[in-house]
Amino acid sequence: MAAQNLVREGVRWRVGNGSNIHIWGDKWLPTSSTYKIASPRQFLHQDTRVSELIDQDSARWKVNVLDALFFPYEADVIKGIPISSSLPPDKMIWAATPNGKFSVKSAYSIAMRQANRVDQGPQMYQAAPVCEGCGLEAETTGHLFWTCPRAREVWTCLKLVVPVDNDRIFSLLDLLWSMLVEESQNVEIVAKVVCIAWAMWRNQNEVQHGGQRRNGKDKVRWASQYMEEYKAATERLSCNEEADEAGGTWSPPPACSFKINGDSAIFANQKAVGVGVIVRDDIGRIEAAMSKKIPILLGAVEVEVMAYEIGLLFVKDIGIHDLIMEGDSLIIHRAMCDMSTPPSSVAVVIQGMQDMCKEFRRVMFSHV
Ligand SMILES: [Zn+2]
Repeated sequence: MAAQNLVREGVRWRVGNGSNIHIWGDKWLPTSSTYKIASPRQFLHQDTRVSELIDQDSARWKVNVLDALFFPYEADVIKGIPISSSLPPDKMIWAATPNGKFSVKSAYSIAMRQANRVDQGPQMYQAAPVCEGCGLEAETTGHLFWTCPRAREVWTCLKLVVPVDNDRIFSLLDLLWSMLVEESQNVEIVAKVVCIAWAMWRNQNEVQHGGQRRNGKDKVRWASQYMEEYKAATERLSCNEEADEAGGTWSPPPACSFKINGDSAIFANQKAVGVGVIVRDDIGRIEAAMSKKIPILLGAVEVEVMAYEIGLLFVKDIGIHDLIMEGDSLIIHRAMCDMSTPPSSVAVVIQGMQDMCKEFRRVMFSHV
C-alpha cells in the first residue's frame, strides 16, 4: 500500500499525443510542485484530454487555446513542453528525477515527504518540498540556510563559529534569535549572516532560472562585498543628511506632482558605478525608489547622466506624468534646460532624455 502511494506520488505523464491525459486532475506538467494544472476549469468538461490542446495535424500546441484557458505562467509552461511530430502514445514517467528514470534517492525523498505529512496530520499541514540541494530533508528555511550540507559549505568558508544547537533551528528566524538573544552575538556578525543567507537564496533562484551554482567562497565574497557597499552608501547618506541640515533642505513639488532625486556613486576598485533614484510626492512621502549597480567604470559626468536617464525611465515605467527632476550636477541641469551645450561624451544621452521628456505631461528641472 505504501509502495503504491509512493509510486502514485512519484510518477507523472509525459505528453505524447495527449489522448490518455486529463487536462484537469492528472499530473502532466514538468514543473516540480504538483505537476497538475492550477488554472480553474471554466467551460470544458472534466474529462477533456490534453490531446484537445494539440493540433494533431501540425503536432503543435494550440497556443490561442492555451492562452485562453490557463493562467499566463501555466500557459507558458505548457508551451514549453516539446511535442514529437510522430505524436507517440503518452507515457508514465518518474517525476522526481530530471531524466524520468526511477532512483532510490528520489523515492526516499518522496517517502520522507509522505511521512512528514502523515506525522503532521494530512489536512492541516502542507509539507515543505524536499530540499533540492541534498534531497534528504524538508526544505524549511532552517534547513536551507543552516543545516543543509550546501549551507554548511558556505558557513565553513566564513569560518563562523556559532554554538547553535542544530536540532532547534527550524527556520532562519530561529537561527537569528539564537544568535542575537541566546548567544549575544555582535550585530555586525548577525548582519553578515543575514546577508549570506540572502546570497544563498539569490543563487538558489539564479540556478532555478538556468544560472550557475556558486560555491561557498563565492557566496561569502558576494555578501561581504554587498555589505561593504551598503556601509559605504549609508555613510555617504548620513554625510549628505548632515549637509542638508546645514544647507538647503528638500522642498516638495507642487500639488499632484512628484519630485525625483537621483544620485550616483563610483566604486573605482570594483570598476562599477551605482545609481539611486527616489520618487517623493507633494507632501514628501516616498512613493518609489530604486537602485542599480552597473559593472562599468564611468566618469563623474557620465554616471550623473546615467542617474538622470535611469530616473526618467523609472518614473515613465511606473506611470508618473507630472514631475520635477532634481539633481546636483549643474552641467547636466544646464544641458537639460538648453542653457548650455553638454559635454560631447553625454550629448547623445542628453538629447535622448530631452526627447523622452516630451512623453510626459510636464517635466521641470531643478538644481540643488
Ligand atoms: Zn538540503
